[in-house]
Amino acid sequence: MDTLIIGGGPAGLTAACFSPRPALVLERLGTPARKLMATGGGRCNVTHAADAAGIGAAFGRHARFLAPALRAFPPDALRAFFRNLGVETLAEPDGCVFPVSQKAADVAQALVRAARANGAEIRCGVRATRLIVGNGDGVKGSPPRITGVETNHGILRANRVILAAGGRSYPDLGSDGSGFALAKAAGLDVTPSAPALAGLFTQEAWPGTLAGILVENGGLRLDGPGDSKRFFHGPLLFTHKGLSGPPALDLSGEIAARLLDSPSVPLRATFLASRQPQEWLALFEEWRRQHGGRALHNLLSGELPRSLATTLCGLAGAADTAVARAKRDVLTALAEACANLPLHATGTESWNRAMVTRGGVATHELDPATLACRRLRGLACAGEVVDVDGRCGGYNLTWAFASGRLAGLSGG
Ligand SMILES: Cc1cc2nc3c(=O)[nH]c(=O)nc-3n(C[C@H](O)[C@H](O)[C@H](O)COP(=O)(O)OP(=O)(O)OC[C@H]3O[C@@H](n4cnc5c(N)ncnc54)[C@H](O)[C@@H]3O)c2cc1C
Repeated sequence: MDTLIIGGGPAGLTAACFSPRPALVLERLGTPARKLMATGGGRCNVTHAADAAGIGAAFGRHARFLAPALRAFPPDALRAFFRNLGVETLAEPDGCVFPVSQKAADVAQALVRAARANGAEIRCGVRATRLIVGNGDGVKGSPPRITGVETNHGILRANRVILAAGGRSYPDLGSDGSGFALAKAAGLDVTPSAPALAGLFTQEAWPGTLAGILVENGGLRLDGPGDSKRFFHGPLLFTHKGLSGPPALDLSGEIAARLLDSPSVPLRATFLASRQPQEWLALFEEWRRQHGGRALHNLLSGELPRSLATTLCGLAGAADTAVARAKRDVLTALAEACANLPLHATGTESWNRAMVTRGGVATHELDPATLACRRLRGLACAGEVVDVDGRCGGYNLTWAFASGRLAGLSGG
């Protein structure tokens, strides 16, 4: 066998579509692309209408590592690729791109068809259990080489192997962390994994009393030293245990990683991202002049959801206070509560609810130009098994497709 691909998800299938020689895809579940079918609530947010640099920025610390893969397969090329496979896509006003049919299954089926059309065999129900590492090319000092894969159905020899076994999130959909174990056992550095794109649990109990309330124009930021720029703006959703919505999800990977070393992570929430504390204060002064007899929480509920307005007034010590009677320090505290409220994250939702995995095969193990392993010849890695995780909005699938393509073309 020339090329073995471990994992029949978007990264592995795309690698099979672009492999110059027919590939054998090993998929441990009974059908390929189970997770892909569940993406975007079954609609599949395939990519984001941005250029390669814009996509890279959504990955923060790894933007430089991703650049070659994304430059070679930016969103426009990705959409053209799917168009050629019969899947038209459409960008929504926020930039998220979905298939026109709104069906993730169409994306998955098109990929499977294209991989097969390129000569790939997709063998389901086969689990890779070990990467077989040989002694290099027999030349003294040459790096060791992958010679095959051990599976639950015996040993398969191969000239090159692409590891695309995904991360650890939603294990029922296939990726249960076995890709990390395979890489580690073969001697690669694998950074510890933590759930990402997951809801946050807060130390404070009050968010739970607002469960189900959505604040359209909210925002959340990390509040540690040097964190002033770690701010995400967007709809904030209160849940029974804390916060969700894009800003919370986008910060969750970083928070989960910090929680490995610390019991809580300080945050600041804003409930009208465009408005600063002094602007809130100016508004309260105007209310004082114009509506002095009215209760603050009633006035505030014209700006924010009523239950949130009541809660924030309570937190600021202005539960039933008429605006004219509120002391300046109470108004200042309320302005801070609206624009800069301290919270503490103490956990994130578990692997069963986290959409992606932070951590994985360390990027320094891979050549970004080819995604081939520097220390293990014949092996390349693609998709979520690599220590790369991006924001909500189609970015993670963009990486899966772009890295799968690059590894398929050149890997190993
Ligand atoms: C509910 C949900 C919704 C999401 N929605 C979006 C979205 O709309 N847009 C977006 O960009 N991202 C989304 N994501 C993230 C995105 O799905 C992943 O980043 C992407 O699927 C990663 O692709 P992958 O091919 O690397 O891994 P996976 O999709 O996890 O595929 C890996 C495959 O490898 C197989 N496998 C694992 N171990 C082995 C083994 N040892 N032997 C053989 N096979 C193995 C697995 O069964 C699996 O099929 C979502 C994730 C979830 C969970």
